[in-house]
Amino acid sequence: MEETSCSRNIAENVQHVRVGIRQAISRAGRDSSSVQLVAASKTVASDVLLEAYVAGVRIFGENRLQEAQEKMPVLGSRQGLNWHFIGRMQSRKLKDIVGKFSLLHSVESVEQAGSIDTLAKKMGIQQAILLEVNLSGEKTKGGFDCTDLQGALEQIAKFPHVAIKGLMTLPPYSENPEGSRPYFSQLREMRESLARIPAKGRIEELSMGMSHDYEVAIEEGATMVRVGTAIFGKRS
Ligand SMILES: *Cc1c(COP(=O)(O)O)cnc(C)c1O
Repeated sequence: MEETSCSRNIAENVQHVRVGIRQAISRAGRDSSSVQLVAASKTVASDVLLEAYVAGVRIFGENRLQEAQEKMPVLGSRQGLNWHFIGRMQSRKLKDIVGKFSLLHSVESVEQAGSIDTLAKKMGIQQAILLEVNLSGEKTKGGFDCTDLQGALEQIAKFPHVAIKGLMTLPPYSENPEGSRPYFSQLREMRESLARIPAKGRIEELSMGMSHDYEVAIEEGATMVRVGTAIFGKRS
């Protein structure tokens, strides 16, 4: 497909995803404003992000710091615009990530949360984070083991400059979106069990679901879906 015809579909794609989100919310009998769309915009050029913004997208999720740093100034400080970091975070990059993204989706260790706390303290801010949970045990993926999560949360909750907003997961890819459902419901159950641990604020967010399975994720309680391909087309 030519790039021009691709980008012309952005508004339509956003609309389509919004309908899918609304329908899943309604099937689940949930509140209509309970799900946020995070446009996973890795490899997508700034001008296409601008189109998505015009089509109503307000949150962009980036995976690579350098790429995000190039796009952020192009979009500037548009009304309501938010950047999330959704990729794995290398420790040497943390100093440029903390404070630049309103939410970090993939905190994967207590040590990493500690580094974020130290950096946030220096900046005089509190950094909002999600804890990534590795439910499949795949070695290639980051995240807390579910058996470690409770202890980790108790430790991270003590860091004054970090705010734990919720949990994130990335299930193994399955052709059939129903294959993701057990992972999504497990993450929701983990949130319920963690809700009893005293932490600053409430652990409410569930970041789960991508282009092929976001509707299932919403049925299982997702509060944030990270959708790339369904908005921007296939990444080259
Ligand atoms: C790329 C990416 C997504 C979006 O994936 P699509 O299948 O393109 O919707 C979601 N989450 C993370 C962490 C990603 O890296």
